[in-house]
Amino acid sequence: MYDFGLEIWGNGDFVIEEGKVKVNFASKPALVDIVNQVRTKGFKGPLLIRFPHLIKKQIDEIFSHFYRASKEYKYSGGFKAVFPLKVNQFPNFILPLIECSKDLDYGLEAGSKAELIIAMTYNIKGHPITVNGFKDRELISLGFIAAAMGHDITLTIEGLNELETIIKVASEMGEPYPKIGLRVRLHSSGIGVWAKSGGINSKFGLTSSELLEAVDMLQESNLISEFTMIHFHIGSQISDISPLKKALREAGNIYAGLRKMGATNLKAINMGGGLAVEYSQHPNFANRNYTLEEFSNDVIFLIKDISISKGEPEPDIFIESGRFISANHAVLIAPVLELFSQEYDEDALRLKEKNPPLIEELKELLSSIREKNAIEYLHDALDHMESLLTLFDLGYIDLQDRSNTEVLVHLIIKKSVELLKSRNHHEIMDIQDRVQERYLLNFSIFQSLPDYWGLDQRFPVMPLDRLDQKAKRSASLWDITCDSDGEIEFNKNRPLFLHDVDIKKEDYFLGFFLIGAYQEILGMRHNLFTHPTELSVVFDEKDEMKVVNLLESQSIWDVLDDLDYDIRDVEKIMKLNLEESPFVDEQKQKSIMGKLYLILSENGYLRTMTNGDNKNEQNN
Ligand SMILES: *Cc1c(COP(=O)(O)O)cnc(C)c1O
Repeated sequence: MYDFGLEIWGNGDFVIEEGKVKVNFASKPALVDIVNQVRTKGFKGPLLIRFPHLIKKQIDEIFSHFYRASKEYKYSGGFKAVFPLKVNQFPNFILPLIECSKDLDYGLEAGSKAELIIAMTYNIKGHPITVNGFKDRELISLGFIAAAMGHDITLTIEGLNELETIIKVASEMGEPYPKIGLRVRLHSSGIGVWAKSGGINSKFGLTSSELLEAVDMLQESNLISEFTMIHFHIGSQISDISPLKKALREAGNIYAGLRKMGATNLKAINMGGGLAVEYSQHPNFANRNYTLEEFSNDVIFLIKDISISKGEPEPDIFIESGRFISANHAVLIAPVLELFSQEYDEDALRLKEKNPPLIEELKELLSSIREKNAIEYLHDALDHMESLLTLFDLGYIDLQDRSNTEVLVHLIIKKSVELLKSRNHHEIMDIQDRVQERYLLNFSIFQSLPDYWGLDQRFPVMPLDRLDQKAKRSASLWDITCDSDGEIEFNKNRPLFLHDVDIKKEDYFLGFFLIGAYQEILGMRHNLFTHPTELSVVFDEKDEMKVVNLLESQSIWDVLDDLDYDIRDVEKIMKLNLEESPFVDEQKQKSIMGKLYLILSENGYLRTMTNGDNKNEQNN
């Protein structure tokens, strides 16, 4: 059985049983059954399915590893964590996250006013809130308001001007003060596409001389006792652990140095996020070279080592992992709408009494292709196609001949792939590469996988069922935007094989996994495709699954409204267009308006392809 790399990226979250991907938890529902259950209610577009139990799984995993490592090294500092809201601010993610971590030292990190408002509203009192990013006077005032509400909040200073503002606001608003953190600018930086957050040229953080000045300022303004944390973040998706170790050493020494200068309430090192997720479906493209066990051991050991050698107390350790906590909780389901080559069916041939000689040869190749001559015949067919297309351009053959050429060559390709499937010939790989089947999916890459578009980030993808049958078609994936970037390409080094299905007769769904971090909020409404319909799958005490928080994708009305079109105008003008039209009488106007309202109050994803309706009736 080919598992689409589930062993590599699956994290134990899903299993393949009876040819279906199943949730590896409680009653183990199959994803395809969940999808069908929701589709019978009329939600035919893409679906985003959340699994709150997987949020809890990740949080517990981080805490248990750090608790274990602390015990192992007899570490005397505490361990705390916050979830950085920028990674996923959606309520159906955040509210379960808060609920399932209420017994741990787990809180939220905010990077803007709006995010801070979410934290001030929903974070449980006593659980930490940290605030990073550039701050103006208002954001700082919000921090004081949070402190006044009784929140345990730390404002992390990115520059001395922010500290000046804090000192001013403190004198105006008075106590209670928020805690103050200083973001340090390290020499060490992460590697990979996201590494711009650390390093000497980083966008953020105080240089050594600024740190010294900050301590002076804090002492002069009597705020030094509020200074409790230093912070750094070397970038997301850290693929290699060694830059993190270097950064920890650097930060540990800065911590000790600042304490010796009189920052005696400095009790915490916040090491930011960056814990990587394994997205790879192929063993040769692994994304990280460490385990969480190794990561937690290294952190605890290093900080302990520095504290002992400098004679300072072992600080609390904060982590701000976002990707690691949220990526696996969400799966995007994209229904396959069409296989492009399906139109190249035998039925589509319109052979003439007398065909051009090259077409006769193609016919001959198709009827006599066998395993031993398949590669040779395939080459011949592709050559003939080149020649025939040239003849068409020069006006020697007509459109009917051209269509026959395309159909015959496609049939030859299909047949040769079928004949050669059991061989692992490099040439077959090359051919597969050239003759990929294009699967059209009912979703938008721009909306749902923006990091693929922007950063070429790969996400694991696999069909939800038929996993007991070998998938033989080398595939590329197309979305329904009319943008040529709306394609996910695969090649012979990283191929994707899918099943040959007749979409007119049966459904076929692909799942994109590990999409719960960053994708939703970075997603853009290119072509005005919006956030897909989402739902959460939870399990009751009897391990039975329940679909909750079903939130339908935005209607077309709402999308236009969001863009600040006056939707009453839209409605009025459409009505007027019909009234003034010479083609419709009053009766017809009414029925057309009714149809329009129906379409506008639905979301913009495709409901079905033209023939899909028959299929649904058969299913019901
Ligand atoms: C983005 C960010 C994080 C989260 O990083 P992940 O790679 O998602 O863990 C944590 N801390 C800060 C300051 C950030 O900017």
